Order: sequence, then structure tokens, then C-alpha cells
Amino acid sequence: ATPTSIMVGTGRAAELGVLFRKGDALQRLEEVRVVAFDKTGTLTRGQPEMTDFAVVGDFSEAEVLAAVAAVEARSEHPIAKAIVAKARARDLTLAEPEAFEAITGYGVCARVGGREVLVGADRLMKREGVALGEMEERLAELARRGRTPLLAAIDGRIAAVIGVADPVKPGTPAAIAALHEQGLKVAMITGDNAVTARAIAEELGIDAVVAEVLPAGKVEALRRLRGEHGPLAFVGDGINDAPALAEADVGIAIGTGTDVAIEAADVVLMSGDLRGVVNAFAISRAVMRNIR
Ligand code: ADP
Ligand code: MG
Repeated sequence: ATPTSIMVGTGRAAELGVLFRKGDALQRLEEVRVVAFDKTGTLTRGQPEMTDFAVVGDFSEAEVLAAVAAVEARSEHPIAKAIVAKARARDLTLAEPEAFEAITGYGVCARVGGREVLVGADRLMKREGVALGEMEERLAELARRGRTPLLAAIDGRIAAVIGVADPVKPGTPAAIAALHEQGLKVAMITGDNAVTARAIAEELGIDAVVAEVLPAGKVEALRRLRGEHGPLAFVGDGINDAPALAEADVGIAIGTGTDVAIEAADVVLMSGDLRGVVNAFAISRAVMRNIR
């Protein structure tokens, strides 16, 4: 590609809110066969709501929600914000937790009023040796409805089943349909529950899902997708996404996301609307067509 055509292309892209940080991304984009998306904050709004909260055993609902929210008040995770918001809406008093710990990809734990409180995915309970009892089916039921299923435990006993929902962004279905029309495969990579991820992927017509990956696993998942389908673009927003953005043939960051993600990307979308991804591909094709 000539420097002039690339300049014109990147200029036109910028007018559409798509910033090419590296000129050769315009060329590499044309070779991409699969577009992999992070789920939370990229395909979805990243502002989940707590939709389900059911106490298990002889705990009281206010007692468990207060304990859970006291721990989550220390976490930066969007799930934590959703739970704390519900507790605040009910005017519950949140105690100061002690020995707070966030276990990436699993959940959080702390001591609240002398009791050991855990909140997170079922794998957190397994890891900490808490018996799941008959919870598996209740978790699966939430997940099939596209909710992220969580459990809370107090002093080693399950105390609540929690469901969190993160709505898909309004522009997401149209963006996926347009990528499909251009003959591209669309994939989703997430740390979320596998059944939840599949329910959302099915609703969106996504071709491949890699779920329950720890942050470090995203890069490996991308390599596998590349091996199967060819060159790939990855679209993400979070700190966790920076290694995947760097690994992808073209890394596309959402400009409303974290600085770390933006720094690692080749292309930055000025808005969270995923139709920017479609525009990036369209401009790449137009520029490359003019050159040949
Ligand atoms: P992603 O951003 O792709 O959803 P994360 O690694 O941030 O991946 O989270 C993966 C899973 O870990 C969540 O779906 C949830 O089950 C659990 N988790 C992480 N942080 C928390 C938290 N603060 N409270 C409850 N669960 C959590
Ligand atoms: Mg994200």
C-alpha cells in the first residue's frame, strides 16, 4: 500500500471514530478471517445487575446480602458493584471486612463480623472445599437464562445462590450480522460461566465460544482459534485483555475501556458501539482495493 492511500484511509477512519494507531493494521485487517470478542464490557455493557438472590439454609436474606455486599464493597469487579448496589438500595449496613482477598477468575473472600465469607463462581467453592450440595442444578438453570451464576458461603456452608445479568449493547447484534455478511467467523472469549456464555452466544449467533478462561488463558485461546480459522482480530476493553490485544494479528480496543488495553491495541474505537469494528473492516477493504 502506498503511504498516501494509507493516510487517506486512516483519515477517513478517524472521521468515523476508528483510530488506526499503526498504519499496517489497515493491511493486516484485510487478511483477518475471524473476529474474537471479549464478552464483558465489549459485547455486553459491562454494567451487570443482580437479578436473582436466593438464600439457602437457615440464614436470613438481609444477613446474607449484607455480609456478601460487605466483601464485594472492596472489589472493583462489575459483579461486585451490582451486588453492592442492591444492598445499598435496601439500606443495609455494610460491616468493615477483614483479610479481604480477590482471587482472579474465581471471586472474593474476607472475614465479616468474625465469619468467613466467600462470593464467587462454583469453582471458588470447589477450590475452598465448600460442598455444593444440590446447588449445581440451580446454577445451571440461571446460566441457561444467560445469567452469571454465583454462590455465597458463610463459614464453609452455602448461604445464597446469586444471578447477575449483563445486557448486550444495542449495537452488538447488527455488528455481528455485518461481520457474518462479510464472510468472517465470530468468536467470544470470556472468564464467565460456560453455560452462560453459550446462552448469550446463541442469542447473538456467535460461531465459537471459549469460556471459563482465566486472564492468562485468553492468549492461548486466541492461538487455538488462529490455528483453526486463520488470522484474527481481537476486540476487548479490560486490563485483562491487554495480552490478547497484543497477541492478535489486529488488536482492537474500545476507547471507553482501560488505558492498558488502548496501549496494547493497533486500532481504537472512539465509542463502545461495535459497529466501529465493521467500519474498520470496510475501510481496510476500500483502501486495499484502491491500491490493487
Ligand atoms: P470476565 O471479565 O471475562 O467475566 P473475570 O476473570 O473478571 O472474567 O471473572 C470471571 C468469573 O470470576 C466471574 O464470572 C465470576 O464468576 C468470578 N468473579 C470474579 N470476580 C468476582 C467478584 N468480585 N465477585 C464474585 N465473583 C467474581
Ligand atoms: Mg471486558
